Amino acid sequence: MELLLPRTCGGCGAPGASLCEACKKAWRRPPKRASVALDLPVWSLSPYEGAHRSVLIAMKEHGRADLMGFVAAAVGASISYLASQGEIEHDITLVPAPTRAATRRRRGGDPVERVCKKTRFTTFPCLQISPRTPDSVGQTAQQRRLNMRVDLVRRPRGPVLIVDDVVTTGATIAASAHVLRSAGVQVRGALTYCEA
Ligand SMILES: [Zn+2]
Repeated sequence: MELLLPRTCGGCGAPGASLCEACKKAWRRPPKRASVALDLPVWSLSPYEGAHRSVLIAMKEHGRADLMGFVAAAVGASISYLASQGEIEHDITLVPAPTRAATRRRRGGDPVERVCKKTRFTTFPCLQISPRTPDSVGQTAQQRRLNMRVDLVRRPRGPVLIVDDVVTTGATIAASAHVLRSAGVQVRGALTYCEA
């Protein structure tokens, strides 16, 4: 079926390829420290705009699985870069940020987890947003942080890096780091594709 559909760039909509050269170039920039204030380092590939934002939405909302290979290469390169800078271990374990079970079912899986599994790093999905967490719509950043509950389904070994697509208030990352640390897991930080 895919062969019958015209391909457009997931970053800018240009016809021809899954991702055009200009958008690929944008995605190859090394990660930077995000400005969100948490008690662990958060690195991000880009502000939530342009090719990053479009690709993220295409994967998450439109099921564009054809973009995942390239995104995984970019994310993997970013993690290797952080390791080469001495920020994290070369054999760090990736923990995809938690999602809600209902969202997972609707999307037929979790795009962040699928991207992580396409990198060379060990991926250990072990977090889930608790059903007790109220919907965040209309909540302030502080309310989100107070209300967010994350459950640890199983315990990873060794130091971990949390991976998410976009960081806004940091509520999900903070709650994830908390539940991991409470179980004695060393959390080196978080990497997100975008910072909103
Ligand atoms: Zn493009």
